[in-house]
Amino acid sequence: MFPKVRQVYSGAKPSMHAPHSYVNALMPWYDSQSRDLPWRQKGQDHADPYGVWVSEIMLQQTTVAAVLDYYARFMARFPSVEHLASAPLEDVLHQWQGLGYYSRARNLHKAAQVVVSQYNGAFPACEKSLLALPGVGPYTAAAIASMAYNIPTLPVDGNVARVFARLFKIATPLPQLLGEVRSRMGAFTGHGPHHGDIAQALMDLGATICTPARPSCDVCPLRGLCQAFAASNTHAYPVKAPKKTTPHKWATAFVMRNTQGDVYIRQRPETGLLASLMEVPTTPWDTQEPGEFSPPVQGDWQRIPKPVTHIFTHFKLTVSVWLAEGVTQDPNLAGMWTPLSELSSHAFPTLMDKIFKSAGIKINTSS
Ligand code: SF4
Repeated sequence: MFPKVRQVYSGAKPSMHAPHSYVNALMPWYDSQSRDLPWRQKGQDHADPYGVWVSEIMLQQTTVAAVLDYYARFMARFPSVEHLASAPLEDVLHQWQGLGYYSRARNLHKAAQVVVSQYNGAFPACEKSLLALPGVGPYTAAAIASMAYNIPTLPVDGNVARVFARLFKIATPLPQLLGEVRSRMGAFTGHGPHHGDIAQALMDLGATICTPARPSCDVCPLRGLCQAFAASNTHAYPVKAPKKTTPHKWATAFVMRNTQGDVYIRQRPETGLLASLMEVPTTPWDTQEPGEFSPPVQGDWQRIPKPVTHIFTHFKLTVSVWLAEGVTQDPNLAGMWTPLSELSSHAFPTLMDKIFKSAGIKINTSS
């Protein structure tokens, strides 16, 4: 499949401002250097839109290396959009455990049901319809459109934006830079036989060569076209936006075990942060450090010396963890007492993993 792609690009020498220069310079490098990833197809073959979609949603906030195992497990459990649509949400959240940002898993589940009910299981082939699916933003819509349907568009994430910022010396900081890049994507789109390859080549270049701190310009296929390289100021791009301070919240968590050693857990509300996931009781997450509090039941409460910290997208949370063992079960508590061996069958957010760990409880998530 590759020779056909290479024939189109080969022989054309990149020159500044010439049509096709950027693509002609980039694609021979991609043909020989690209990463083999399970959701990819190169050359004339189109990728499976379901695989592209799942991988792109997983890759939001997570690296390729970290996603590979999760992707393999997820696809083994839900091999098609129909399997995902018909699975209980709890199963989907459980498979997602460890990836964080659980709204992504909930949206995957909802969108799979839309694809099955409205599109008979076939993903729509235009960006506008893809954008209407729950949880699908401009980046993911463009990734599916280009990689699975060969539509001349470009998924623009931080990696691709960095390449553009340096290539064209764009002085706009993120996130406005993303819009600026989209308006210049014509330098790469519409100039090759397979637009998905061009999109993936740019993603790879940003991830492996045009890296944030020390770009490897000496081996970059776009070096001859790069304005920042020519001006010896690649370090100045992308321009940084002034730093915002992250809000800080505090809470107290209560880890309770009964006389059999079972752990008390309950389900979070169906909406809001970490919706529907399991947790131990906590005080409200407040911008003030907690003062006096009442534990959910009487017991011999011991404070774990080191608090747990967790960074969410918009705030940092510090949790003071208290542990009580051998407590008497209170029939007024609406949650469940769960044996240690069964904790792994529930979906907990990463924050709860940290809280359990600090209280000396390990959840076996290998199953
Ligand atoms: S020459 Fe350097 S700065 Fe320019 S695109 Fe290539 S790696 Fe990035």
